[in-house]
Amino acid sequence: MAAQETVDHKYVYDFSEGNKDLKDLLGGKGANLAEMTNLGLPVPPGFTITTEACQAYLATGREPDGLAGQIEKHLESLERAMGKRLGDPQDPLLVSVRSGAKFSMPGMMETVLNVGLNDQSVQGLARQASGEGSQAASGGADRFAWDSYRRLIQMFGKTVCEVPGEEFEHALDEAKNAKGTSNDLDLDADDLRGLVDAYKKIFVKHTGREFPQQPREQLDLAIRAVFESWNAERAVLYRRQERIPADLGTAVNVVSMVFGNLGPDSGTGVAFTRDPGSGAQGIYGDYLANAQGEDVVAGIRNTVPLQELEQLDKSSYDELLGIMARLEEHYKDLCDIEFTIERGKLWMLQTRVGKRTAAAAFVIAGQLVDEGLIDLDEALHRVNGAQLAQLMFPRFQLDHEFEAVAKGIGASPGAASGKVVFTSARAVELAAEGESVILVRRETNPDDLNGMIAAKGILTSRGGKTSHAAVVARGMGKTCVSGADEIDVNVPAKRFTVAGQTVNEGDVVSIDGTTGKVYLGEVPVMPSEVVQYFEGSLDPEHIDNALVRAVHRIMTHADGKRRLAVRTNADTGADAARARRFGAEGIGLCRTEHMFLGDRRELVERLILARAEGEREAALAALLPLQRADFEEIFREMDGLPVTVRLIDPPLHEFLPPLEQLAVNVAVAQERGEDVAKEEALLAAVRRMHEENPMLGLRGVRLGLVIPGLFAMQVRAIAEAAVSCARGGGVAKPEIMVPLVGAVQELETVRTEAEKIIAEVVGDSGVEVLIGTMIEVPRAALTAGQIAEAAEFFSFGTNDLTQMGWGFSRDDVEGAFFWRYLELGIFGISPFESIDRDGVGRLVRIAAEEGRAARPGLKLGVCGEHGGDPDSVHFFHEVGLDYVSCSPFRVPVARLEAGRAVVETGGSDSR
Ligand code: ADP
Ligand code: MG
Ligand code: MG
Repeated sequence: MAAQETVDHKYVYDFSEGNKDLKDLLGGKGANLAEMTNLGLPVPPGFTITTEACQAYLATGREPDGLAGQIEKHLESLERAMGKRLGDPQDPLLVSVRSGAKFSMPGMMETVLNVGLNDQSVQGLARQASGEGSQAASGGADRFAWDSYRRLIQMFGKTVCEVPGEEFEHALDEAKNAKGTSNDLDLDADDLRGLVDAYKKIFVKHTGREFPQQPREQLDLAIRAVFESWNAERAVLYRRQERIPADLGTAVNVVSMVFGNLGPDSGTGVAFTRDPGSGAQGIYGDYLANAQGEDVVAGIRNTVPLQELEQLDKSSYDELLGIMARLEEHYKDLCDIEFTIERGKLWMLQTRVGKRTAAAAFVIAGQLVDEGLIDLDEALHRVNGAQLAQLMFPRFQLDHEFEAVAKGIGASPGAASGKVVFTSARAVELAAEGESVILVRRETNPDDLNGMIAAKGILTSRGGKTSHAAVVARGMGKTCVSGADEIDVNVPAKRFTVAGQTVNEGDVVSIDGTTGKVYLGEVPVMPSEVVQYFEGSLDPEHIDNALVRAVHRIMTHADGKRRLAVRTNADTGADAARARRFGAEGIGLCRTEHMFLGDRRELVERLILARAEGEREAALAALLPLQRADFEEIFREMDGLPVTVRLIDPPLHEFLPPLEQLAVNVAVAQERGEDVAKEEALLAAVRRMHEENPMLGLRGVRLGLVIPGLFAMQVRAIAEAAVSCARGGGVAKPEIMVPLVGAVQELETVRTEAEKIIAEVVGDSGVEVLIGTMIEVPRAALTAGQIAEAAEFFSFGTNDLTQMGWGFSRDDVEGAFFWRYLELGIFGISPFESIDRDGVGRLVRIAAEEGRAARPGLKLGVCGEHGGDPDSVHFFHEVGLDYVSCSPFRVPVARLEAGRAVVETGGSDSR
């Protein structure tokens, strides 16, 4: 039975049988060729072999049963339709064999044109070309046929049989030299016949066999080569970088040939229906007369702007414009296309929804709404938070003066200029002197961490999007270009060379982490217009800026759609004010740590060293007014909006000088005979408080339970600040958040004390203070039902929850081994960057469900980096949280993605 099933399985689809939604099965190219065929556009007939056939071939190493027969059947019907037989010596049908995966993988897998030509059919092709030809005289027809044949041997040799491409190019150059020309159009039929002989010899030399003369054998070998190219090294690397699953496989398209190289009334070109760079409307494309497809890309001859086709062949030009408009209307999006004109007849060879820049994505979505092609929901769906984030980085102000000297992978966005350094140590030194530096390495490794922290940007000559440099830089939010392989780095000599120039340590370079481009010298940096808009300094209604207007429109729609509120993480009044301009609807995390730093360290020292209760109380009493003032400022900026204040979280000894430094101070002072009583006491305290694993030690609620009066002082400062705001006519909505709770008893103890203080301070001022907890210890998530009894809100601390859920020390692992985990595909993206739905996400889900079951109306939010990560925002929407909180710059991203989450889950939710 199984055999029967395989025989019946459909592996081949005629273009008329497919459509654009079958990309999984037919690949992007095949699905869209089918779509165009069914729209009635002029597509040369052909068929598509499915990705399933490829998967079966790759799994077993041979063509699946039934495939050969189905190809035969479709080939026959293609031959009938064309009235020609594949490789017929008199009048050959020729085909192209083209790869096409679900995701376009530019340049990854190649195409063989003119399959079906051999020593006989090349003559037939020439006779046919001259017989039918309008412009091609018989000499021209001969030339055309031999040119097509030499292209077949070249492409077949290179793609199917791995003959080094340079050998063919070299032979072509020799033929041109012999003729004294640099233009391949000057080679006549005889020259090309000679070239075919030369190519055949090259073929034999590298493969040990003659160039295959059997048309069907050519076809089968080419199909197999496309299958196998899926696992070519380049393709595997590209997929890894772009996170494309490895098991999709590619489809193969067999398309009857049309010829752009039949003379001056033929040609080939590419076009976009709008500018993929800016989104501007218009016709963008290139055209090359008397050429076959690959010449345009190969840049062998200079193309002309598509507009010039109007003079060359007005009727094809008009038809093309009509088709482009039709495709846009049909796909309701920017399309890019490939076409060929054969003796005045236009043929469509490819289309797809075109790639575009972040700016173009917003602009085009806005235009399409204006044109009535899509609605705002669809516009919102078509853009994303990653694009918005890109538009919020400062950009280089590029004019003709600056030309990139190299291009690598845009591994972590932003624009950075600085002096080149080659070692981590030098980066740290120069940065300490206030210099901006760019750390240049072949590849980075964990030893480079300090240098990466000190640098403005990182440039490597090797490695992709998941290399050590890329992963770590993204984690730090630092600009990084990786894999700029034109750069030759010589670390011992402290220089690199690129494009024939030498760049020494201390020379200035500029790197663009979005485009991957590298410039020599300092390129001026321009602020982002989108940020200016968010900050209120650009009014979208009154400026002529298509991007800002589109962003405004789509953001407004997202805000109307989203169910999740968006708050910010802010510790100062200034951050709070900026985030509010960016649309934050409150503070989800105000850390109080910084309120213990600077000149307040001395008070912390007193607190830690206090022997008697009185001393400790005095230190706390001195801290109280300082904290109160901090909170007052924040409440003022967030007037009317909720502010979640987290009680102190890190271990106290973090506020003391490091052990080594203290030890040295003490030794030096003793040497000088100075009074070292205080330093010695500090040193002893630091020794006493030293922890092997401070992340798992005396921090968070544990501190509050161990150090009497500490949390009480903070609670009092918060409550007093709120009351003082209320007295001044403002509205403060404080929410006190207890960190690192693992058991309800911890929270209850803190709560009992806090409630007393709050009641005493608040009196009849009308101020309401909520008390809740972070859920960041796995045990808390798993006992959320109990904890909810004592909490008015939960805020998921997904950084710690990830750290403790995976057992990953956050400060160590990203630099130490995440690159390897990414390389092995253990995860596709760092779980600190995007929430691990299955594990950590499950903890969030359990806690949300059990918490709400125990206390209906329990407020649920998330603070931590994930709050601003697009994919994580969608997850938090699905789980039903009330809000996400993220850093000020991420607030617009979270707003956009929260809106997209509603549109994409098909909800019509609106707050
Ligand atoms: P890629 O995915 O690299 O663009 P394609 O399969 O689209 O590869 O083909 C490479 C070039 O060959 C393109 O310019 C295309 O237009 C041209 N080409 C492919 N098939 C045919 C055909 N049947 N007739 C004429 N030109 C073709
Ligand atoms: Mg193409
Ligand atoms: Mg935490």
